[in-house]
Formats: sequence, structure tokens, C-alpha cells
Amino acid sequence: MVKVDVKYTKLFINNDWVDAVSKKTFPTINPQDESVIAQVAEGDKADIDLAVAAAKKAFYRYSSWRTMDASQRGLLMLKLAELLEAQSRYLAELETLDCGKPVKQSEEEVYFSASVLRYYAGKADKILGNTIPADGEVLSFTLKDPVGVCGQIIPWNYPIPMMVWKIAPALAAGCTIVLKPAEQTPLTALAVAALIKEAGFPPGVVNVVPGYGPTAGAALTHHPDVDKVAFTGSTEVGRIILGAASAVNLKRVTLELGGKSPLVVFNDADVEKAAQIAHAAAFANAGQCCCAGTRTYVQSGIYDQFVKKAAEIAQKRSVGNPFDDVQQGPQIDKDMYTKVLNYITAGKEGGAKCIAGGDKLGDKGYFIKPTVFADVQDNMKIAREEIFGPVQSILKFETFDEVVDRANDTNYGLAAGVITNDVVTALSFAKQVRAGSIWINTYDHVTSQTPFGGFKDSGLGRELGEDGINQYLETKTVTLALPKKPQI
Ligand code: NAD
Repeated sequence: MVKVDVKYTKLFINNDWVDAVSKKTFPTINPQDESVIAQVAEGDKADIDLAVAAAKKAFYRYSSWRTMDASQRGLLMLKLAELLEAQSRYLAELETLDCGKPVKQSEEEVYFSASVLRYYAGKADKILGNTIPADGEVLSFTLKDPVGVCGQIIPWNYPIPMMVWKIAPALAAGCTIVLKPAEQTPLTALAVAALIKEAGFPPGVVNVVPGYGPTAGAALTHHPDVDKVAFTGSTEVGRIILGAASAVNLKRVTLELGGKSPLVVFNDADVEKAAQIAHAAAFANAGQCCCAGTRTYVQSGIYDQFVKKAAEIAQKRSVGNPFDDVQQGPQIDKDMYTKVLNYITAGKEGGAKCIAGGDKLGDKGYFIKPTVFADVQDNMKIAREEIFGPVQSILKFETFDEVVDRANDTNYGLAAGVITNDVVTALSFAKQVRAGSIWINTYDHVTSQTPFGGFKDSGLGRELGEDGINQYLETKTVTLALPKKPQI
């Protein structure tokens, strides 16, 4: 077992490391062997109050943060990106310890996060309003103001990228932040907080308060001094957050929620390549991915060949110690492990054909065999509900219109994929499927520049790209009365 030094376990408020007001702590668990990694300070309402007060002070109009040149904000973000990369191995090992994902993947995620910081660093001094032609009596223009104090609540599936997707646009816009990491994975958020301090961000600009959702999370979403809430997690909690955010004041809200994304393979596809793309779409991050392509629709002409290939690839997927060179580690925790195994049982009992995996792996840790179901019907539980585990459902279809209707027959709308060499089929699919990201002959291709987010119950607003920073800006219209025309 790799020994990873856990350096930070306290709350990060106003650039200081503090215990929870209650002095309470909670354990964070290693999903590989179910051992306790560390006790972490457990934030609650009193700590959120302190953190929000620090963020509010840092947002005061004469604070060093608010009066800083915008290009200097960008430079601080570039410094943070550099520090992330310099610490990439340590951060990756810490992430793997707490979250269970393969360490190579963890390290790639650190580099991806640094690229997101750099993208938004470049935007910090390019936030521009408009001048607006008016009626000759006035001159009007718009200013783009930072939205204010932001409460950011993140999940456990991509802890560092989720943190950076949220803090980077907020910092570029000039906001201040209280971030609550998921209770399953608090460690890397605290390690990144240490780098935020080292980079030179003024106190209170970013505060990190680990704790549970119904306590620390709810205190943040109800707080009257929080101007905006950004959340990634389940649709169920997204609904609660939307309600809480309008209970005391009217907070701006962005939500990145669940999905049940379709990936559609047409007869003209190369079966081997398509099966590889579909496998990666379903099993990336042990299936713990909001945009996972878990409903694989395959046209009847290649269905049998595809099913055989999909089973072969899944059977070869390496699962084990995430510090080794494997493709898949354990699921995040006992709850998710049990939930996923229950879905596998439901798939079998519901009449789908289990052609790979279908069981847990080993007796210690939360490992599940990559599982593939064929002959899945749209009304089955495994085809309708988000499983969030390594389970692929394969469904047969005949025609374009039929599959588009079936792809759209879900409350979710986060992503969709299509595999075909016919450009008209691909672009018609992209036009007709109601989802925030459409991937053609690829899947999961997410970059700093491209907006990401959902239609329908998959969320509100977008992260990344130009859209991502707009969610942290308010438009202010300024109108000046011009002097009356002189009499000539
Ligand atoms: P969750 O939605 O319960 O938790 C996500 C975050 O929200 C965590 O930080 C949690 O502490 C916080 N939270 C929970 N209740 C809250 C509340 N009342 N107020 C404020 N914050 C609250 O997700 P989970 O329990 O970790 O996973 C459950 C399901 O969520 C999964 O099965 C999966 O379907 C989905 N999920 C989706 C994503 C995604 O990226 N879209 C990520 C993780 C989980």
C-alpha cells in the first residue's frame, strides 16, 4: 500500500486552518480496504457562518481582492495552476487514497484542472460590457459585476476537477467563495486550499468547509449573505437546493445533476471501434460519471456482433488496487456499492441478459465487476434510472426516428453520443436529441473551452467555456443623461 501523507484535515477559513466550532470530526474512508484514512473537522452552521463572513469581508468594495487589477487576479490563478502541476503526484495519490480512482487518472485530472484554471485566468481581464446605442438623449453602457459571495457544493466523483470547474470562473469574475466538498472526499479540496494560500490569494477569497450535506451544505444554501449557489450532485439534492436557494433570499443557482445518457450506434459503424467508445462511455471512472453513456442503443444489423464485442471488452477490463496500473478501482463507498449491486440484481430479475460481470469482486473494499446487460428494454429499471456504477445496458433499435424518440424518452438531458459515418445522420441526431452535450464518434470529450451542462432534470446553467463565467457575472446597465442640444 502506498503511504500518502495527509497534511490538512481542518477547516480552511480566512486563509487559516481551524477546528470546527463544535470540535467535531468525521472519518474519511479508503474505499479500497474500508479503513479510516483520517478524521476531518466537521463543519456545520456555525462554521459556515464564519466562512461566509470571511467571504463577505473579502468581497467588500474596498477589499484588496475587489480593488485588485483584473490581470493580477489572472496571475494569481496562473500561479495556482503552476502549483497544482508541481504537486500533481502528491495530489493524485491523495485523491486515489480518498476516492479510489486509478492514480494515473487522478494525475490526468490534476493536469486537466490546471488547464481550466489557465483558461479562466486568461478571461479575468477580458470581462467586457457593451455600449448601447440609445435615443440621443442618453448614453448607455453595461458593466459586468461579480455576482458576489458564492456557495459551491461539490460531489465525490471528480473532487479536484469539480472544485476547479467551480472556483476558476468565480475567481476570474472577482467573486469570493465558500466551498463544501463531499463528505466522502474532503482531503484534496483541503490540499488545494493550501495551494490557494501559497499562490497568494487574499484571506477570505476562498474558504473550504468539509461537512455533511443536510448540515453544512444546507447552512450554505440557506445563508442570507450568499448570493449564488453552484452545485454538482444528484437531481434529488438539486431540487432541495433550488428550494433552499429561494427560501431566504433569491440566490442565483447553477446545477449540474444526474443523467441517463444514450449512446447510439448505427449499422455503418466500425463495430470494434464503436464497442470501444461505448465501453469507455459507460465505464469511465467506474461508471461514476454524470454523463456516462449507460444506454447503448445498437442498430439491428450489427447488434449481435456488437454485443459479443462489448462483453469481451468488459471481461478484459482490469479492476483492482487503484495504485496499480488498472482501469478501474473500487466504488466510492458502501452505500453506492450496495446501490449498484441492487441495480444489477434488478437487471437480472427484470429479464435483461447479463453477458459480463454481474457481481462484486473480492471481499474487501467496494469493487464491482464491469457488468454488461444485453436485450435491455426501455421500461426496465436499469434503462431508466441512473446507476452510477460500472453497468452498461445494450438495447436494440431499427430506425433513426425510433431511436431518437427512445433516446429522448427520459427526464434527463445531460449528454448523448452517436456513432456513424453518415454526416446527415450524425447532425440530424445532434439537432433532435435534447441534451447539453452531443458527441459524434467520440464520447466524454470535455474541454475548458466547451460549455457543459444539462437540459431537463440534468441541471440549470452551464459550466466551462464562455457560458461558465457568465454564470458568475451580473449585468449592470448604466445610463447617463446627455446635455441638451445647444440652440444654434
Ligand atoms: P448528493 O447529491 O447527495 O451529494 C452531492 C453533494 O451535495 C455533497 O457535497 C453532499 O454533501 C451535498 N448535499 C447533500 N445533501 C445536501 C443538502 N440537503 N443541502 C446541501 N448540500 C447537500 O450525491 P451522493 O449522495 O454523493 O450520490 C447520490 C447520487 O447522486 C448518485 O447515485 C448519483 O446518481 C448522483 N451523483 C451525481 C453526480 C454528478 O456529477 N452529477 C455526482 C455525484 C453523485
